Amino acid sequence: MNQVDLHTHTTASDGSLTPAQLVQRAARLGVKVLAITDHDTVDGVAVGTAEGARLGVEVIPGVEINTDVPGAEVHVLGYFFDVAHRELNEKLAAIREGRIGRARRMAEVLTEMGAPVRFERILEIAGDGAVCRPHVAQALIEAGHVNGYQQAFEKYIGRNSPAYVSRQKFSPAQACALIRRAGGLPVLAHPVFFDRYGAVKARFDQALLPEMLANGLAGIEVYYPRYDATTIELLLGVARSHGLVVTGGTDFHGVRPGEPDLGGVYVPMKTVRRLRERARDGSWAVEHATEAETGSIQ
Ligand SMILES: [Zn+2]
Ligand SMILES: [Zn+2]
Repeated sequence: MNQVDLHTHTTASDGSLTPAQLVQRAARLGVKVLAITDHDTVDGVAVGTAEGARLGVEVIPGVEINTDVPGAEVHVLGYFFDVAHRELNEKLAAIREGRIGRARRMAEVLTEMGAPVRFERILEIAGDGAVCRPHVAQALIEAGHVNGYQQAFEKYIGRNSPAYVSRQKFSPAQACALIRRAGGLPVLAHPVFFDRYGAVKARFDQALLPEMLANGLAGIEVYYPRYDATTIELLLGVARSHGLVVTGGTDFHGVRPGEPDLGGVYVPMKTVRRLRERARDGSWAVEHATEAETGSIQ
């Protein structure tokens, strides 16, 4: 197992282990540096950090912000930011609120389509976590409308399916700027995304890079489950040409068949050092202080 994992989820979003359980598992597996990167929330970070201090695991504060571009979703990871940063927390709360409204609307549409699911049940399934489409899929499975997640997305709630409801738009560049304003480092998550059969489901559109770079993008996730040598080479090339820190992680959501356990993806230890150096180097913040204060960064 590797000693570094920079992409993990807990019950604060759609993971199945609590933050404390996640850190305990990391400790057992020999992971020394762990970033908790829940979707649109930092609620798991404090407990995880405390547990890490007890067990000798360094927990890096993280987040994964789901952003929208036409026809796709781009995930932006953030590291080493101020967890108590007010604007960051307010914005994440607004994104989560938007998700609740969206889940309610999806429940309505599904009911109109003859596949009724109860909104309350979706919230129950989400528990403490940020409600998102896998929770709706679970409700559809429970109600017997579909035989699994794949069918739920294909038939009902996938991006091009009839019960899909879009969220309030938040761009990748806006997410980068927000993370920077909170003192953190934005990193482009899984630029290539595979479905469970190993087919490429989404590929990052490099035309989005300049605006993200202008808004402080600092890294790119290069080491990720199922990335082959060709994909890694390609992404290393992107990292080199834009001076981005190379990061990686398992995107762990719980122990699931066919998915790597914590620390199950190679991530070099120097990644952590580089991220930390960049986080300490305040030059980006100083250069962009004027825009940040007036909020003119889009
Ligand atoms: Zn993601
Ligand atoms: Zn993730």
